[in-house]
Amino acid sequence: MVSNANRPCPICASREMVFLYQMNFELPASSPLPRQYQIVSCQSCGMIYADSSATQQDYDHYYEQFSKYEDTKTASGGGYSAADQVRLANMADVLAAYLTKTDSIIDIGCANGGLLEALSKLGFKHLTGIDPSPVSIKHVQERGFCGFSSKISDLNKENVGSHQAIVISHVLEHVFDVASAMYTLSSLLNQGGVLYVEVPNASNYSSNYVVPYYYFDAEHINHFDSHALDNLARRHGFEVIAKGEKNIPVSSAIEYPAVYALFRKLPTVANFEVSYSDDLKLGILKYIAKSSQDGRLEKIERYATNGEAVILWGAGSYTQRLLATTRLAECNIIAIVDNDRNKQGLLIHSIPIQSPSVLREMEGVILISAAIYAEEIKKDIAALGFQHKIDVLG
Ligand SMILES: [Zn+2]
Repeated sequence: MVSNANRPCPICASREMVFLYQMNFELPASSPLPRQYQIVSCQSCGMIYADSSATQQDYDHYYEQFSKYEDTKTASGGGYSAADQVRLANMADVLAAYLTKTDSIIDIGCANGGLLEALSKLGFKHLTGIDPSPVSIKHVQERGFCGFSSKISDLNKENVGSHQAIVISHVLEHVFDVASAMYTLSSLLNQGGVLYVEVPNASNYSSNYVVPYYYFDAEHINHFDSHALDNLARRHGFEVIAKGEKNIPVSSAIEYPAVYALFRKLPTVANFEVSYSDDLKLGILKYIAKSSQDGRLEKIERYATNGEAVILWGAGSYTQRLLATTRLAECNIIAIVDNDRNKQGLLIHSIPIQSPSVLREMEGVILISAAIYAEEIKKDIAALGFQHKIDVLG
């Protein structure tokens, strides 16, 4: 059934959409993000997105307060792990094929500056990193690069200058007002300049299945595929000069599907009618069906019924979703712990998130509730010498 969205399509601005799935989250009490949204499909272009009642300001506020990309041990984008270095070196190679070494490049959403480092190794000298997190920017500056902390909506030619290339990698899926962001990016590029866009590849969610609804979290509100990137480019006065798909290793067992494209800025923005494809919708429906049939949901039923004391290890998106959509909230949860210091002290489901060290004094089964780091968490638990029974939801 076609109905009207609160939020217009991030690609084509149409409000005509088809409802696909209702998502709910149990977010930390202080989070400015909405506790629910609908996954919808645009009737005009086939884009999949979260029809959320939030505003761009809510998301800006959230990323200023809760950045998880600044931790040098765990964050991706910093180029700290061997796999992350390979990924960033490959990205730098793709860019280098279309640029000369004297071109100036800005990386928007640069995290700790791993891509700048990879570009610098190739001989690029005019490199700038921009990120909403001041902590990340401090790391970027310590690595010897120019960097400043800003959100996209505050950028303009006067404070950033104009550049030959902009990289925006794994950012646009988080942006509420994509049209404004694209307008800003275009205004910072020289004529003929290049915009490198990389986002999760929503057409491959099903083949890169992790845990139920893994790819629908409170942060990721736009679900692109290659067709959506084509429409995005042409609507904002760009032509696509290269594109490709890849899988990014995120843990010992899991790869994350991504799609990227290089846009070249055209002299004028011509009127462009987006083209429709339902490939992405069909892929997403398959992914929703797979998630709804996941056997992990039965395990939660068991703990909810037997009342055993449960310690949840992991307070991220996965836990937030399970608490809102399954009987996990009915389990006898005596503590929630997480290694992420940004989360410690926040309240989730009225329970404070604490450091794992508190478990020394506590008995109960540790339920590992993390989508991708279950193996890593098991090692952490062993290293801490805890003797608790362990069960895994991830
Ligand atoms: Zn659309």
